[in-house]
Amino acid sequence: MTRVISILFPVGVPEAFDYALPDDVDGADAITVGQFVYAPLGKQVKLGVVWSIGANAGERNLKSVLEIKKCPALSISLVKFVNFTARYNCTSPGMVLRMVIRSYKALDPSPVVTKYVRSGQTPAKMTPARAQVLELTDVWPGRASEIAQAAGVTPAVVSGLAKAGGLRTMREPLDAPFDVPDPDFVSPDAPELTDGQKLAGADLAGLVAKRAFNVALLDGVTGSGKTEVYFESVAEALRQNIDGQGGQVLVLVPEIALTQAGMSRFAARFGAAPAQWHSAMTEAARRRTWREVFNGRAQLVVGARSALYLPFKNLRAIIVDEEHDTSYKQEEGVIYSARDMAVARGKLEGASVVLASATPSLESLHNARTGRYVHLQLPERPGAAVLPDIELLDLKEHRPDKGRYLAPPVVEAVQAALDRGEQAMLYLNRRGYAPLIICRNCGTKLKSPDTDSWLVEHKRTGRAMCHRTGFSMRMPVRCPTCKAEDSLHPIGPGVERIEEEARALFPAARTEVLSSDTAGNPEDIRARIARMAGGGIDILIGTQMVVKGHNFPRLTFVGVVDGDMSLSGGDLRAGERTYQTLVQVAGRAGRADKPGHAIIQTHRPEHEALVALAAGDRELFINVELEMREMLGLPPFGKLSAVIISGPDPKAADTAALAFLNKAPRADGIEILGPADAPIATLRGRARRRLLIQAEPGVNLPAYMATWRAAYRPKNKVKIQVDIDPQSFM
Ligand code: ADP
Repeated sequence: MTRVISILFPVGVPEAFDYALPDDVDGADAITVGQFVYAPLGKQVKLGVVWSIGANAGERNLKSVLEIKKCPALSISLVKFVNFTARYNCTSPGMVLRMVIRSYKALDPSPVVTKYVRSGQTPAKMTPARAQVLELTDVWPGRASEIAQAAGVTPAVVSGLAKAGGLRTMREPLDAPFDVPDPDFVSPDAPELTDGQKLAGADLAGLVAKRAFNVALLDGVTGSGKTEVYFESVAEALRQNIDGQGGQVLVLVPEIALTQAGMSRFAARFGAAPAQWHSAMTEAARRRTWREVFNGRAQLVVGARSALYLPFKNLRAIIVDEEHDTSYKQEEGVIYSARDMAVARGKLEGASVVLASATPSLESLHNARTGRYVHLQLPERPGAAVLPDIELLDLKEHRPDKGRYLAPPVVEAVQAALDRGEQAMLYLNRRGYAPLIICRNCGTKLKSPDTDSWLVEHKRTGRAMCHRTGFSMRMPVRCPTCKAEDSLHPIGPGVERIEEEARALFPAARTEVLSSDTAGNPEDIRARIARMAGGGIDILIGTQMVVKGHNFPRLTFVGVVDGDMSLSGGDLRAGERTYQTLVQVAGRAGRADKPGHAIIQTHRPEHEALVALAAGDRELFINVELEMREMLGLPPFGKLSAVIISGPDPKAADTAALAFLNKAPRADGIEILGPADAPIATLRGRARRRLLIQAEPGVNLPAYMATWRAAYRPKNKVKIQVDIDPQSFM
């Protein structure tokens, strides 16, 4: 009997396709969902995954499966998770499968290589080169090329020495397994947990021990030791035994937090470095992590959002650290929120999910308040550390000197910190020197050529840059419009300009900038962060890069140059984001035994987010914000989806936007706003129009959007993107 199976390929096709599975294909009798198979697709033979298994093919004229690949299958829960992600985010399962399968090579066992190690015998003939090699291989088995390079000899010396009996060979996988983390590792460096931390840790471990789906919100002030506490749920998951293998844990962190300092905390707690997963890894390193996760041996994985799509075998717990962080939302390709999808994966795996943050999203807080999530709170910092006091500085009253951006009280506070031998940080989430370049002669503002965005002056590189697209050009000498010479003038501050000001004000201080321009590669970022942590920097000026998860024990003053920056614009989360960012920034100060202080420069000291911040009254802010959202039916009290219609021709984009709108299925509880020009109405030469769809809580918005999306096929290079639960309104 020839059966029908459907196969999903990791490509952007709308669904899985049916194929015949003839009996004589090796392994056909034991076929299962999730297995990898080769089958013809178009003119090629491609590797896909069995998505469902049907009965007799009957008379249907189907193409046949060619081969069943000899490797383990994807788990049923992962297959379900791919389907769920696709359905929820209005995309095709093939696109999601593509996030799961990064490289087919990872499906095969690691290549085996020959390594050499000292045998203990001394060869008859010794040379200085041979002696050098023997010394090295005494402690370290390596490949011939590695040993030769380290010893400064040719590989022939290594193989010659092996022939002479001085080295023995061993065949080993190229990709070594990861060291096994030990949940009960005793480290002299681990802090003694406070009673509050112990309780919360035991609660989290208890949730993991239930071996069933549950979600906890670990809501602890900055520096309260959330990491130490969630380590307890990690430990409990590692201790579990699933068919002879230990449980697996995924810890998601915002990309930038994958620092050496962060990693070494895992190593210090569990006696082994975790497996990693992030965008800066080499292909080979990714393959190793993927393969070891797939075979269940990599038990502890720390990764950025895409690690959520790794093929875990025995996943027992998922931690989402800094769960409010915007980098969990992927805005390109498959648009999804890793925080929300983590909860979905936890449910499908029957695992525990921990969302940790000092400033949880309103959605998560709402879920905790309504009892859907277990709510664990850590209201204080351990030991002598206290939360910084936060002061609002009204810029209308305290004007910075002409051409300056730091108001006198901020300058005094920096000086005071320096005088005490402590560190100061100045925060401004704006890269470059000045966000706007204007011609003083004719008023022209330098604009990006194909995008609605001003060019930003970067003095360090002497270039004018578009931060939306990465376009850049040498800073022009003349105004491109009126051709006047030396008339282009920088308006407003970026971090480089604050650096210039700080250097002028505090010439003796060691001042450095941390932004993606000044610290380009991960090594440099790590080095700067380590310098700051070790006291090698007096004043650190930084963009959002300084906000996340760092511990700087000697930092006691934080100045926020522009507290209003994220308040402007019509974004529904503007208040929430501002509040979160400023709590996190201020929270860098006073993490050890010295008290911290933060000053926020603002033109709007009356804004509720800022008032609540200065009063240290989070409940006040949350209540006002939730009340407003409830009144307007916005998340978490209603649902939102955005649609972006874009195309190279503005008229075609307009036409498509209206035509798409006309196809909206009629349904109760749905309100559609737009189409309107997107705030960035042109991006990389494409005109962009937006629709916003607001739905009442009972509506299945993803299903509604999928029906709608399927009812219209755009033409003329127009693209339609659906964004469920939009975070960005650009
Ligand atoms: P959070 O994630 O809540 O901001 P961390 O877990 O990063 O906090 O902890 C902040 C700092 O305090 C870390 O350096 C950590 O080692 C330290 N710490 C946490 N708990 C304790 C404790 N009980 N005793 C001493 N130091 C602690």
